[in-house]
Amino acid sequence: MSTLLLGIDIGTYSSKGVLATPDGELLRTHVVPHGLDLPHPGWAEQDPDGVWWHDVIAICRALLDGEPYTGADVAALAVSAIGPCLVPLDAGGRPLRPGILYGIDTRATEEIQLLEDRYGAERIFRDAGMNLSSQAVGPKILWMQRHEPDLWARTARVTTASSYVTFRLTGEHVMDRHTASYFIPLFDARTQEWTDAFGFLDLGMLPRLGWSDELAGTVTPEAAMQTGLRAGTPVAVGAVDALSEAISVGAVESGDLMLMYGTTAFFILVGQELTPHPSLWNVSGAYDGQRNIAAGMATTGALTQWLRTTLLPEVSEEEAFARLFEEAAAVPAGSDGLLLLPYFSGERTPIQDPQARGVLAGLNLTHTRGHLFRAALEGIGLGIRHNLEAFRELGAPIQRIVAVGGGTRSREWLQIVSDITGVPQLLPTVTIGASYGDAFLAGLVGGAVRRDDIQRWNPPRETIAPNPGVRPIYDARFGEYRALYDQTRDIVHHLAGAAGR
Ligand code: ADP
Repeated sequence: MSTLLLGIDIGTYSSKGVLATPDGELLRTHVVPHGLDLPHPGWAEQDPDGVWWHDVIAICRALLDGEPYTGADVAALAVSAIGPCLVPLDAGGRPLRPGILYGIDTRATEEIQLLEDRYGAERIFRDAGMNLSSQAVGPKILWMQRHEPDLWARTARVTTASSYVTFRLTGEHVMDRHTASYFIPLFDARTQEWTDAFGFLDLGMLPRLGWSDELAGTVTPEAAMQTGLRAGTPVAVGAVDALSEAISVGAVESGDLMLMYGTTAFFILVGQELTPHPSLWNVSGAYDGQRNIAAGMATTGALTQWLRTTLLPEVSEEEAFARLFEEAAAVPAGSDGLLLLPYFSGERTPIQDPQARGVLAGLNLTHTRGHLFRAALEGIGLGIRHNLEAFRELGAPIQRIVAVGGGTRSREWLQIVSDITGVPQLLPTVTIGASYGDAFLAGLVGGAVRRDDIQRWNPPRETIAPNPGVRPIYDARFGEYRALYDQTRDIVHHLAGAAGR
């Protein structure tokens, strides 16, 4: 009998598939690494068939190779992917060019300005619940219209990575509302539906909208032949990778916040109300009627990586991190007067300042490598607190934080963040990531699980509680952190412009 749940996540550098039972037990996983094309500075692309669809086939073939499972064992599946992307399709549903990736592709900066001039930044904000940024898809559509008019003339549909793969599986064009929220100015945050208020695009070119746990369609005979799945297997609408990661750790109820410690930091807070904020991202949630507020810092794990390769270049990554975190732990809270702004590649939320840069203030001759590393961890923690304060300004209650990502391997870093923010953080039992959330979505669409079963699939394994003893030190540091940015901003912008000249 078909009882197993298949989840597939397409990431920036690899895709991962998991096969799970309806109780959340992991049976098999498979990872397929892939590349990222950076054909020009500021461009980031991937081939929809050569990478995304190829990976789905490879994962299905590997997980369902008959040893012991086959496609006949799969009750349902769901796919998540990097996003929002722009994937233009011709009338036959074939991609016309490589997919233009999410916010790391910054080619449409001029088009953001053009759209704001054309429609008015305030009107766009009112309808979308957030401002245009490199994450928005509308400016990328305008970029194609301006720079690739011949291809655009042949474009019959626009979609995103997860929706493209789901289309290859089912023949249905469907997009989850969370991803669609970034298709500004085509999505109305108030109604959570497509809008043609701006007359920007024929809405017939867009996929139908759905919630992540709804049915997108069923596997077609052709897709069944390619993947080894059974024709007729239900496929859920799916999600963008970060949302599936939040689902995977049970951050799905109002007041739950997922905090991702990756190369960058990413926040998803679940709520029920629309709460527009000029420097956060207001998006639809995974499940019917839900809203999310999302936020992201530009340089968190990337900063720890930079320090590791700069301070301990001869040592393996594992050993270097072990030494640096140990040395940082020996330095007292507040880093003996050293304060760091972590904006090494500009900052996303809440300051939204691409020209911001790192600042190290208060250095003296007694400071050590451990001080530098601790100051970086504290600077990132202060940036996290800054984002949490922005959430609170909205009156959005944070009931609990679930921490995920590579950085959670360090207890010291987690402790510093809890101490600075004053908020406890939960660590999940299963840390496999978005593909596990996709398997859960597959369970929902197939009726094998109920929403609250995720707490049984992935209960918290540990809580990092804040130490109230150091709170006064960090309260003072937070004020200094804010002031240091305000008081150095102009000169740092100037220096950013001078770099490389
Ligand atoms: P990505 O966003 O690229 O998927 P990951 O979730 O894998 O990133 O997290 C990568 C980050 O994890 C690194 O930038 C670093 O901050 C942290 N990290 C990696 N190895 C360790 C380690 N051994 N100890 C603590 N933190 C680590």
